Amino acid sequence: MHKDISEILVSQQEIDDICTTLGKQLTKDYEGKNPLLVGLLKGCVPFMSDLSKKIDLKLEQAYMSVSSYHGGISSSGNVNIKMDLDISIQDRDVIIVEDIVDTANTIVTIINLFKHRGAKSVKVATLLDKPAGRTQTYEPEYVGKTIPKAFVVGYGLDFDEYYRNLPYVGILKPEVYKK
Ligand code: 5GP
Repeated sequence: MHKDISEILVSQQEIDDICTTLGKQLTKDYEGKNPLLVGLLKGCVPFMSDLSKKIDLKLEQAYMSVSSYHGGISSSGNVNIKMDLDISIQDRDVIIVEDIVDTANTIVTIINLFKHRGAKSVKVATLLDKPAGRTQTYEPEYVGKTIPKAFVVGYGLDFDEYYRNLPYVGILKPEVYKK
C-alpha cells in the first residue's frame, strides 16, 4: 500500500498536533455548550475519532453519509444523501466534521440543509482544505491544514475505497488512478 504513495503530505505526528490544536480551540469556543458533531462518512471516521477525544466538553456525535464522487478522483457536483442523521438538529450547535473541502459543493449543500432544518449554528471543522479547488466562495471555520491541489489519500480518504487505513495523508501516484 505505501509504495503507491509519492509523497507524505501530513504525517501521523502532524495529524496528532492538528487534533490537539483544533480540539483546544473548539473546547474554548463552545464553552458552556453541548455541541453536536456531525461526521460525514466515510472519510471523517479517523478524524472524528481523534478530534472528539481532544474536545473537553459534553458533546454528541452523529453521522451521515453523502457522496459526490463515484469512485473517481473528481467531484461530480451533485451531492446525494446516502444515509441521513438519526437525530434532530433543531436548535443545536452543529459542528460538521469533514475530511477535506475541495470544490465546497458538499459542505455548502449540507450547511444549507442543516440551517433549513433549524440548527442554531452550523460550523465546519475539516482536517484538510484545498482552496485551489473551489467552484464557489467558502471558507471553513476550523482547518487542520491547507494543501495544494492534488489528489490525496489516507487517514479516512480513499481511492476506490482503498487507502483509508493509511495512518498519514499522502499523494497517490498518478499511475495508480490512471491504470
Ligand atoms: P467537495 O464537495 O468539496 O468537492 O469535496 C468533498 C469530498 O470530496 C470530500 O469529503 C472527499 O470525500 C472528496 N475529496 C475531495 N478531494 C479529495 C482528495 O484529494 N482525495 C480524496 N480521496 N477525496 C477527496
